[in-house]
Amino acid sequence: MQIDPPPLSKWHRDQPYSARLAAITRLTTPSSSKDVRHVEIDLGDSGLCYEPGDTLGLWIRNDPALVQQVLDACALDGSESVSLNERRYPLRELLTRALELTQAHPGFLKHYAEHNPSPALAAIASNPQELRRYLDHRQIIEILLEFPQRMAAPALVACLRQLTPRQYSIASSPLRDPRRVELTVNVVRFQGPNGPRQGAASSYLGERSAVGDELAVFIVPNLHFRLPADPATTIIMIGPGTGIAPFRAFLEQRQLSGARGANWLFFGNPHRATDFLYANELLHWQASGHLHHLGLAFSRDQEQKCYVQHLLLAQRRALFAALESGAHLYVCGDARHMAEDVQRALLQIIEIEGRLSAAAARQYLVAMRQSQRYQRDVY
Ligand SMILES: Cc1cc2nc3c(=O)[nH]c(=O)nc-3n(C[C@H](O)[C@H](O)[C@H](O)COP(=O)(O)OP(=O)(O)OC[C@H]3O[C@@H](n4cnc5c(N)ncnc54)[C@H](O)[C@@H]3O)c2cc1C
Repeated sequence: MQIDPPPLSKWHRDQPYSARLAAITRLTTPSSSKDVRHVEIDLGDSGLCYEPGDTLGLWIRNDPALVQQVLDACALDGSESVSLNERRYPLRELLTRALELTQAHPGFLKHYAEHNPSPALAAIASNPQELRRYLDHRQIIEILLEFPQRMAAPALVACLRQLTPRQYSIASSPLRDPRRVELTVNVVRFQGPNGPRQGAASSYLGERSAVGDELAVFIVPNLHFRLPADPATTIIMIGPGTGIAPFRAFLEQRQLSGARGANWLFFGNPHRATDFLYANELLHWQASGHLHHLGLAFSRDQEQKCYVQHLLLAQRRALFAALESGAHLYVCGDARHMAEDVQRALLQIIEIEGRLSAAAARQYLVAMRQSQRYQRDVY
């Protein structure tokens, strides 16, 4: 398949555009265990272009309260001048804008252990298995709180990685409004061993930004997650949780461009009453015939947990027939569990319905991937 290169833009990762946060609303109800937000960003006259399937890159600022906790744990006051990339900055500014404070990684712990006399920390740093176990569920602040150590500002900076931008799938079609991008953001919150914790970027968007604020953004083209060139092709989209985002863009695009191909969507989340993202739009598209098949897996609404892979298996005959007729298959969302569970279900379906061996079913999916008919965007 011929894929056009994305148009060059003067805005990119190292030179982001200052866009305006135009709207932010909650998609899950207040009683949901999840806080998922619909975010609208005004690209103004930036000239930034995108296609369904692309993601938005976002530079963020760390939570000032977390920055203060880090300073307190190291007995620093934040006014110290420190150099980074041959320029000097006040430490507080570096911790806020330039350094990763949430994602704990082995490099940080090993480096920090060199400044800290704790034998327990040294034991963790020297045992790769223990290191992995310890870092799972811990952000950097937990390490500083559990093994406190007075530090010089340059030593702390040398332990930390530079902040990286986060990416969010674009949930809107440029055909509706090319100057606007919409996102579906799950605000990461969890209980850490020493207090409540948040994700840096999702809480920046979901808690510390307000309509009218400026956000430093750029487009990340995703050439391997594209609608089929032929608008008559059936598409099968599997996107539980925030995995729905690019499929909302696909559905809008196919509606506005008048594509006649059938659209199938499999969505899932814990509860229908609280977590049915974009319910009104999806049900409307189903009622109008734009969405030919809507499979819903609300895992906790019945005793037996039901996930998207169970819906795929229940539809296996129709699904395999669609694949045999040339349908394109897309998976988006959780990489840890969902993507593998879905792939296992797909292999099972191909094996049973195609009367193939396990090896031949794997080859079938490999061939689909090679011809860009099986595309995944998992994270
Ligand atoms: C191509 C792509 C597309 C994406 N699209 C979307 C999208 O459409 N919507 C969306 O919401 N996200 C999307 N993401 C994920 C997004 O980029 C961020 O990774 C996500 O929002 C978390 O970032 P954060 O900065 O809030 O959290 P971070 O600050 O990066 O995470 C903090 C750390 O907290 C820890 N942690 C997180 N959760 C828990 C927990 N429950 N228990 C214990 N520890 C935990 C982890 O160790 C993590 O390293 C996408 C990612 C990619 C790569």
